[in-house]
Amino acid sequence: MATEPEFQQAYQEIVTALQDSTLFEKHPKYQKVLPVVSIPERIIQFRVTWENDKGEQEVASGYRVQYNSAKGPYKGGLRFHPSVNLSILKFLGFEQIFKNALTGLDMGGAKGGLCVDLKGRSDNEIRRICYAFMKELSRHIGQDTDVPAGDIGVGGREVGFLFGAFKSYRNSWEGVLTGKGLNWGGSLIRPEATGYGCVYFTQAMIDYATKGKESFAGKRVAISGSGNVAQFAALKVIELGGVVVSLSDSQGCIISENGITAEQVAAIAEAKIKFQSLEQIVGDYSAFAENKVKYLAGARPWVNAGPVDIALPCATQNEVSGDEAKGLVAAGVKFVAEGSNMGCTPDAIHVFETARSTAKSSSEAVWYAVGKASNCGGVACSGLEMAQNSQRVRWTRETVDKELKKIMINCFNECVGAAQEYSSEENKNALPSIVKGANIAGFVKVADA
Ligand code: GLU
Repeated sequence: MATEPEFQQAYQEIVTALQDSTLFEKHPKYQKVLPVVSIPERIIQFRVTWENDKGEQEVASGYRVQYNSAKGPYKGGLRFHPSVNLSILKFLGFEQIFKNALTGLDMGGAKGGLCVDLKGRSDNEIRRICYAFMKELSRHIGQDTDVPAGDIGVGGREVGFLFGAFKSYRNSWEGVLTGKGLNWGGSLIRPEATGYGCVYFTQAMIDYATKGKESFAGKRVAISGSGNVAQFAALKVIELGGVVVSLSDSQGCIISENGITAEQVAAIAEAKIKFQSLEQIVGDYSAFAENKVKYLAGARPWVNAGPVDIALPCATQNEVSGDEAKGLVAAGVKFVAEGSNMGCTPDAIHVFETARSTAKSSSEAVWYAVGKASNCGGVACSGLEMAQNSQRVRWTRETVDKELKKIMINCFNECVGAAQEYSSEENKNALPSIVKGANIAGFVKVADA
């Protein structure tokens, strides 16, 4: 029985990619690196206690996994969710090392979090939780040491509370968290960056696969999740002329044949801050009846969204099973890009990768992009926020967006390049594997450092 199943899954993915390639044959010096990188440089675990709104004492486990600093200060988000444990944070921290490398910026990898359910708690209580968490974490982080950010359960509100706490505990204004508000050191486009970046990466895949003949225009796009990543992915898809046929939360999904609108995404974003479920939101706003948005309780979008050209899993790990992947292929999917971390199970990856390696032409293939490549836009923009903080300057929306686009296209090209350079003899004639290329390219950068 695997004691750290999520971590072992993430580790196995990279081992398989490296072993299936000619990398070790060509460069034996890399062989010893993975066992070294697989162990976190440091894990900090701490007790977090606070008083809830009923005046009772609560306690939860807080963590920061400072995984690897070969390429720069530890960098990666904080997840506040009841599922948080060390296996999940180790998998996320491990992925973050290679993801950060794929941005082309110099950042190490880390992840942290708190095992807590914020749903239903008041702003005031959330502030107390963030202060209690930062009371310990503030001893271990700094702008050149470790720079956390948000993840599931930690958005702009929580980053604000955490930043205020850091300032008061350490009496120091530093760019020690990213995802800050705009008028206190944040970067334009940071909230949008993971979702936008995922769409830019997909655009690069479409461009490559169709030799520039196709784009998002007119494509049916199934998206899961309804948090920050899913919201901005959906808005960018709509802007580019695609039809967003689904969104979801942990309780169910919404499907719209004609496409969810930008106004509906905005209504969801507003209601989510108050922890409303999609079922409630769709029921409360009459605007959802207009384009026949239907709610399916207990279901995920993949086999329920009708014909689909593109799938963007943007919710959480292991959210696409092997059977759902088969369903998506049957529904016509040609491009899959994860906005979530490790969104696809190994079985699902196998289905997509088989559809690529056995395809006779690139238009028949399924192009699957793994999260560490396709969702690196969020942390890339965090890197741009750190750069702006260090220089005490503020870049325009256009500048940051242009940089983000450049980073995502470079990342795609590096994945293709590594897949081609190191693909094994039997795969020489197949189309490049983006998942293998991402793992190899990310690994080489870290190993070299
Ligand atoms: N949580 C995000 C990720 O998984 C962002 C991390 C960051 O900006 O540091 O990449």
